[in-house]
Amino acid sequence: MSAKIIDGRAIAADLRHRVAGEVARLRQDHQLTPGLAVVLVGNDPASEVYVRSKAKQLVAAGMHSTEHKRPAAISEADLLRLVESLNGDAAVHGILVQLPLPKHIDPRKVFDTLDPAKDVDGFTPLNAGRLATGLPGLVPCTPLGCAILAKTIHPSLEGLEAVVVGRSNIVGRPLAQVLVNDNATVTIAHSRTRDLAGVCRRADLLVAAVGQAELIRGDWIKPGATVIDVGINRVMHDGKSRLVGDVAFDAAKEVAGAITPVPGGVGPMTIACLLVNTLRAACAIHGLPPPSV
Ligand code: NAD
Repeated sequence: MSAKIIDGRAIAADLRHRVAGEVARLRQDHQLTPGLAVVLVGNDPASEVYVRSKAKQLVAAGMHSTEHKRPAAISEADLLRLVESLNGDAAVHGILVQLPLPKHIDPRKVFDTLDPAKDVDGFTPLNAGRLATGLPGLVPCTPLGCAILAKTIHPSLEGLEAVVVGRSNIVGRPLAQVLVNDNATVTIAHSRTRDLAGVCRRADLLVAAVGQAELIRGDWIKPGATVIDVGINRVMHDGKSRLVGDVAFDAAKEVAGAITPVPGGVGPMTIACLLVNTLRAACAIHGLPPPSV
C-alpha cells in the first residue's frame, strides 16, 4: 500500500485564492483593505526569506503588507514602542513579530504588548487562553494549517485518536487544543514520553512537530493512519543539502493511509493561514461577520 500524498501546495493555493475572493468583496462592499505589519529584528537570512514570501503572498491576495525592519541592537523598550504604534495604526489589522528575537528581548513582553485583536500569529496570552477554553479567537497559523490538511482526509475529526509529538507553544500545544476542540481524543507526546513508538502506533492521526530529522519510523505508524509532518530539518545526503521532515517519509508512506511531504506539506499552509488570520482580524476589527474561509 502506498499512502495518499496530501498536497499542501495545492491546498494552500486554493485557500489563498478563496482569501483573495473575500478580500476583493471587502474592498468592494466596505472599502476595506486588510493590512499586515511585519516586524523583523536583525538580519537572520531564514527570517528574511520567510518575511519576503509572506509579504508577496499577502499582496498577491490583494492585502497591504508593510515591513518594519530594525537592527538586532534595538532596545526592548524601542521594540515595544514600535508594537504600540502599530497597535494604534488603523491601516494595520495584523501584526506579525518574526521570531526568533535577539536574546536581550523577552518575547513574552512583546506578546503582552501586542493588541490581541491584531495578533495574527495567535501568540498573545488572550488568544492562547481563548483557544485553550474553546472560545473563538486568532489561532496560530501552523496548527490551523495542520487541522485543515487533516480535514481533507477526515472531514470530521470526532472520536479520532490523535497523537501530537511536540509541545511547543507555537505548534504542538495549540495544535492539540485545536484537535480537542474538534472532538478528537488527543495525546501530547514530548521529549519525556516513555515508549514514544508505542504512543505513535495508537494514532489514527499522527502529527510530528519535533525538529528531529526522520525521528518517526515507518513501523511507529498504525496502518492506514493520517500523518502530518510539521518538521523542517536540513540534512546532508550524498554530499547535497536537502530538507526532510520529522517522519521517515519513504518508510512511512508504505504504512500510512495519507501523509504530508516535506517540503510541500505544512509549510505552504502556514503562510496561507497567515492570510486567513489577517482577513479574519480585519473583519473582526471592523465589526463585520467572520469571512467564509
Ligand atoms: P521546539 O523545539 O520549540 O519544540 C520541539 C518539541 O519537540 C518540544 O516540545 C520537545 O518536547 C519535543 N521533542 C524534542 N525531542 C523529542 C523527542 N526525541 N521525542 C519526542 N519529542 C521530542 O520546535 P517547534 O517550534 O515546535 O518546531 C518543531 C518543528 O517544526 C521544527 O522542525 C520546525 O522547523 C518546524 N516548524 C515548521 C513550521 C512550518 O510551517 N512547516 C512552522 C513551525 C515549526
